[in-house]
Amino acid sequence: MNSKSKILLIYTGGTIGMRKDFETGALKAFNFSKLLHNIPELKLLDCEIDTFSFENPIDSSNMNPEYWAEIAGTIEDNYTKFDGFVVLHGSDTMSYSASALSFMLENLSKPVIFTGSQLPIGDLRTDAKENLITAIQIASLQENSQPLIKEVCLYFEYKLYRGNRTTKINAEHFRAFISPNYPFLVESGVHLKINLESFLPSNDEVPLKVHTQLDNNVAIIKMFPGISETVLSAVLNIKSLKGIVLETYGAGNAPTEDWFLSLLHDAITRGLHIVNVTQCAIGSVSMGQYETSTTMKKLGIISGKDITTEAAITKLMYLLGENIAHDEFKNVFETSLRGEMQ
Ligand code: ASP
Repeated sequence: MNSKSKILLIYTGGTIGMRKDFETGALKAFNFSKLLHNIPELKLLDCEIDTFSFENPIDSSNMNPEYWAEIAGTIEDNYTKFDGFVVLHGSDTMSYSASALSFMLENLSKPVIFTGSQLPIGDLRTDAKENLITAIQIASLQENSQPLIKEVCLYFEYKLYRGNRTTKINAEHFRAFISPNYPFLVESGVHLKINLESFLPSNDEVPLKVHTQLDNNVAIIKMFPGISETVLSAVLNIKSLKGIVLETYGAGNAPTEDWFLSLLHDAITRGLHIVNVTQCAIGSVSMGQYETSTTMKKLGIISGKDITTEAAITKLMYLLGENIAHDEFKNVFETSLRGEMQ
């Protein structure tokens, strides 16, 4: 017989727990205990819920690797005491955080589900209750007394996604996220539709390993017609820079002009890691498919394949923090570590 799941609710901030500042009219994070008072339904759930709150809850625009380390540390400290974790987080940078945490939590054998909402929990038309209640319910799912989900996910507007496959696409609609290159894991309707074959395989025998040394000497450069040599050169020559996510066109294409390719060549020779990611929401980088990516392939630029920019930049920070040998870096990056790429 299944025992009741124990879920830790980790509140970092975000709209879900905000209310209007009387003076400015702007939405600000407020006290977590007040947030819970707004959801008496939580008591009806068939699981035990405990809570942890950031001392000063934040708007997720203020999210950074130190906060990610705090979330990872909280999960690590409570890992054996709970069956699952639900992280309440602002939607603005939720895909970055879910991606980062997926890399930071190696050998996860319990669910870590990020959720939040577009309207505060106190709002009459809020989407917060459904998101929160179903996220907790999904985190509590068990099979043979073991958690069913063993990866970092994101739940929003009736869908559970692999966190590092998501991207925020809408600041208006309740359906704020998509998972452009990977199917949903669970869909919530009258029943929960569980897409088992999309789950990440896990090995429960291997203990959780938490990595918190992320290196943020990285940047994202989005290509656009007209990007100048001066601008690109200035960025690529930043002294402390170790890695770049280069958002290119279509299947990973970029200009074939000499100045462009020679800037990339010089940067790679100096030891910079450059990851090619497509600006298109859907599809994959395929260097060599067009002439406009052939030289980049020869230069040793890393293929981001079908990874999202959010997962690419956090994977870069994670791998740079792991001090991977320079010669192995490309290979490791091009390998799917947590189901973030094909
Ligand atoms: N600005 C908010 C945040 O990301 C938006 C939200 O929670 O949806 O914290």
